[in-house]
Amino acid sequence: MAPTARTPQTISWYWWLPLVTIVLLVCIVGGFIWLGLKTEHEERHTALVGDSLWMEQNLRFHLENTESVLSQVGTLLAPNPADLSDALEEKVRTLLQGSSGLVTILWLDAEGNTVTTLPASSAPVMLAGDHDVAIQRARALNRPTYTRPFVQADGSYAIEAVIPVFGSQKFSGYVVGSYSLPRLIEKHVPWWFAERYRFVLTDNNGQELAGTTSSTMPEREAEFHISLDQIGGLGMNVSSTPTATRIIPGVIIITLLGFTLLIAWSMWALRNHVLRLQTTESALRREHAFRLAMENSALVGLYARDDAGRITHVNLAFCRMIGWSSDELVGCTSPMPYCLPDEHHTNTPATGMAEVQSAHEARFLHRDGRIINVLVSEAPLVDADGHQGGWMGSVLDITERKEAEALARLQQERLEATARLVGMGEMASTLAHEINQPLSAIASYSAGCLNALRNGRYNEKQFLEVLEKVNQQAQRAGRIVHRIYDFVKRSESRREAVDINPTIRESIGVLENDAQRRKVRIECSLGKNIPTIQADRTLIEQVIINLLRNGMDAMQNTPEAARLLQVSSQWLTEEDSVRIAITDHGSGVPSHIADRLFDSFFTTKPEGMGMGLKICRSVAEQHNGRLWFEPAATGGTSFFLQLPAGEEDKPAA
Ligand code: ADP
Repeated sequence: MAPTARTPQTISWYWWLPLVTIVLLVCIVGGFIWLGLKTEHEERHTALVGDSLWMEQNLRFHLENTESVLSQVGTLLAPNPADLSDALEEKVRTLLQGSSGLVTILWLDAEGNTVTTLPASSAPVMLAGDHDVAIQRARALNRPTYTRPFVQADGSYAIEAVIPVFGSQKFSGYVVGSYSLPRLIEKHVPWWFAERYRFVLTDNNGQELAGTTSSTMPEREAEFHISLDQIGGLGMNVSSTPTATRIIPGVIIITLLGFTLLIAWSMWALRNHVLRLQTTESALRREHAFRLAMENSALVGLYARDDAGRITHVNLAFCRMIGWSSDELVGCTSPMPYCLPDEHHTNTPATGMAEVQSAHEARFLHRDGRIINVLVSEAPLVDADGHQGGWMGSVLDITERKEAEALARLQQERLEATARLVGMGEMASTLAHEINQPLSAIASYSAGCLNALRNGRYNEKQFLEVLEKVNQQAQRAGRIVHRIYDFVKRSESRREAVDINPTIRESIGVLENDAQRRKVRIECSLGKNIPTIQADRTLIEQVIINLLRNGMDAMQNTPEAARLLQVSSQWLTEEDSVRIAITDHGSGVPSHIADRLFDSFFTTKPEGMGMGLKICRSVAEQHNGRLWFEPAATGGTSFFLQLPAGEEDKPAA
C-alpha cells in the first residue's frame, strides 16, 4: 500500500521545530551566562568592598603606627631639638626611607615655630594652608591631627600629620610629618591590590589627588568610596577594572549565534532537498500507479523473480491465470504452487544469469486443478547500475489456442482418414473394376476348358490356345496391379534431412491433449548428437503417432498411476542408424496374435482398421529401415523403429 503523501505545508511545523529548539537552547545558554556574569559581578563587588575596607584598615594602621613613631621621635627630640643623637638620626632616616610615606619631619616648639627640619639637607619645606589650624587643633585636642591636602613644589599632593609631644609632664612642642600622597600610595598599596583595583585618594570634594598607576585605565567596572575621617578630609576611591571574563561570554554567544545560523541554513538546505525528494517521490508514485494500472489491465501475466528464483512481483493477470493471489505467490521459490508435480522443470526459471531464455511452451496447474497451456518468455531484469538482479517473465494463456489447434488437427486427421478410406475404396473399386475383366475372361476360359475336359471333346491345339489366353489375361491382371502400385508409389514420399528429436517432440505435441484426457504421462529421453535421416518427415511423424496411439490404447486397463509411455531416441554408431523406441506399460501382445500384428486388416479393437502397423512397417521399409516389437521388461510392449542415418550432417562418432 502506498503511504499517504505529505504535502510540504503539513510538515512545515516539523521543520521549524529544530530551529525553535536551537533558539531555546541559545536563550537558555545565554541566560546561564548572564546569571553567571551577574553572580560573578556581585562577587567581585563584594570582594571590592572587602578589599577596600581592608585597604582602609591597612592605611589607618600604618598612619597610626607612623604617628606613634613620630611621637617617639618627638619625645627624643624635645630635650635637645637642635642636637640630634646618632641613634635618633638613624631612626629618623629609617623612618623617612622606609615604608612610612613621610618626606620630611619638622620639630616645632610649643609656640609652633619650626625648630628642626629633617632631613636637614632638604629644600625649604612647604607647609599646608591650614598648618596653623592643625597645630591649634592638635594642641587643643591633645592628639595627632592632619592638615588638608596641599600641593607641593613638584605638583604632587601632600598632607601633614601634627603630633603634640609631651616631655617630663609638660607640653614640649609638635612633630610634624609631611606625607607625600603618591609616596604613601606607593608604599602602602600592595601590588596585588594595584593589579586588581584602581586606587585613588581624593579630597573631600571628590577631586583626585593621587592614585595607583592603573588609575589611568579608562574603563571602570565598579567603584567603592571610603572617607578617611580625621585624616585631612581624605577619601579613597577603589574601582575594579573589567576582567577578561566579559570577553569569554561574548565569544560563546557569537559562537552560539554562528552555530545557530549554520544549523538554520543547513536545515533550510535539508528542507529544500527533502522537498525535491518528495516531489520526485510523488512523481514516482504517480508513475507507479500508472504502470500498475497498465499492468493490471494487461492480459499478459507478468512475474519477476530474483537470482535465487524467488518470486518478487506478479501482476493481476498472472494471478487470475493461475488462481493464486499476489500475497501467496510473492516470496515463493521452486517448486511453484502452479507447477505440475513432474513438470516443474519447465516452469523453473533458468539459472544461468547470462542466458536469455526465449519463449517456450509450458503447462501450469490452476488452483482449481485445471491444466493450462502457457507460452512463457523471460528477459533479464537489469537494475539502474546495469547489474542483473533477476528475471522478468511474461506468460500468455494459450490453452484455448492449443485446444483449437488440437481440434483442428483431429478434424484434419479424421478428414485424412476419411480421404484415405475414400481413396482406398476408390482404389479397391478401380482394382475390382480393372481386374474384373481379365479375371472374368480367365474364369470363362477355364470354365470352357473344364467343360471340354468333362465332355472329352477337345484337341491339344485348342487347349493350348485357351491356356495361352488364360495366361495373357493373368498377365494383364498382374500389370493392372503393378500399375496401381506404381501410381500409389509415385504419390509417395518427399525425402529431406530430418532431425528426429524435434519430430518426436512434435508427434508427442499432437497427442498431448489426448494423453492428458486418458491420464497417460509421456516421458522423453532423447539422445544427443543424433544425425539427421533422409526421410519423409510427415510419414515418419505418422508412424510415431500411430505407435504412440497404439501404446496408449494398450494401457486402457492399466491403473492410472502406471500409465507411462516412454519415448527414447538413440544413435547406433556401429549400425549408423537412428533407433526410436516406444515402450508402454500395457497388456502386452498375446503370443497367438504376435505373428499377425503386421497383417493388413488385423485388429483386436472394435473400431480398429488393422492397417496402422502394416502401413508403418511399409513406411519403415520404404526408408530402408525396420519396424518390430519386443515384450518390455515392465510388462508392456516396446516398438522399435530403426532408420539408417542420412548421408549429410553426420557428426563425428
Ligand atoms: P489398429 O490399431 O487399427 O487395430 P494396428 O495395425 O495399428 O491397427 O494394430 C493392430 C493390432 O496390433 C491392434 O489391434 C492390437 O491388437 C495390436 N497392437 C498394436 N500395438 C500394440 C501394443 N502396443 N500393445 C499390444 N497390442 C498392440
